Amino acid sequence: MIDPFGRSISYLRVSVTDRCDFRCIYCMSEHMTFLPKNEVLSLEELDRLCTAFIHKGVRKLRLTGGEPLVRRDVMTLFNSIGRHIKTGALEELTLTTNGSQLARHADALFNAGVRRINVSVDTLDAAKFEKITRWGKLPQVLDGIRAAKEAGLKVKINTVALNHINNDEFDHLIEWCGSEGFDLTFIETMPMGDIDGDRTQDYLPLSQVRAQLAQKWTMKDSDHRTGGPARYVTVEETGGRVGFITPLTHNFCESCNRVRLTCTGTLFMCLGQNDAADLRAPLRAHPNDDAPLLAAIDEAIGRKPKGHDFIIDRRHSGPAVPRHMSVTGG
Ligand code: SAM
Ligand code: SF4
Repeated sequence: MIDPFGRSISYLRVSVTDRCDFRCIYCMSEHMTFLPKNEVLSLEELDRLCTAFIHKGVRKLRLTGGEPLVRRDVMTLFNSIGRHIKTGALEELTLTTNGSQLARHADALFNAGVRRINVSVDTLDAAKFEKITRWGKLPQVLDGIRAAKEAGLKVKINTVALNHINNDEFDHLIEWCGSEGFDLTFIETMPMGDIDGDRTQDYLPLSQVRAQLAQKWTMKDSDHRTGGPARYVTVEETGGRVGFITPLTHNFCESCNRVRLTCTGTLFMCLGQNDAADLRAPLRAHPNDDAPLLAAIDEAIGRKPKGHDFIIDRRHSGPAVPRHMSVTGG
């Protein structure tokens, strides 16, 4: 699949549910309204959609959410998509998770063909963890991460950089990830969906974080890439890798290779734009014929925009797009 700007689209992210057992302050409000269950695609329908994308050339597929591991029977989906890993049609199947349910799923994920996972940890301080996630418990997540490591999964930690909240903990996170052998990626807060507060005060440009880290750590630019937008450095003191995802300070759209599918079958061609394609209609209207679905995918890729227009500053404190990250899938 080649978009109008010549970019080859080979990476699909799928939000398998918009629901979550946490309520991270930068992601959701405490009293989120979730999609009615009857609007959500079945696991079989999600598998059919993913398979269609793999036939169209998708080589990397990430299941995310919401919290993917809270969706009932989600391992059925991992196992069925995993068949494409076994045939070689799919290069990589990955997961982004908050880690709360990881301990009981780690072995099954490995057996399904998953080799790398991203786990979100914004702080290693248990009290602060509860403050940021509202409903999360750090020990449970750390148990999950341990289980993942033991199961043979390569773990990358995602940390959203939050001014005045976790900016005093970056060194600790770098040390911990270095000693555990985990890559670490810092992410800027993106203006997606209403939350209870205002993101402006929490927004911390990663250019600032990098300058802060450079005072303590020797960071060498690395050409390591994972298919995502992170740009990496190697930290000489720990030997670990640290990535920076900077949608706001440095826009990475020119090399974008991905599209995002929601659990209702809506395809977003850009995380930061509202244009979308409804794939549920052709999927359901033609249960035994993929041709209309494949045509709808082609038509959507033909509309992939050049880039996003995220801005966070005092004049633009509201969301740039109305939907939450948990809907489109981070
Ligand atoms: N629940 C899983 C988790 O937290 O890892 C997967 C979905 S979550 C939406 C994916 C990633 O997006 C997480 O690393 C989370 O921290 C990040 N995220 C959520 N809302 C965000 C926002 N408004 N700006 C930047 N990152 C965000
Ligand atoms: Fe849930 Fe992930 Fe959003 Fe936190 S960031 S509320 S864990 S979907």
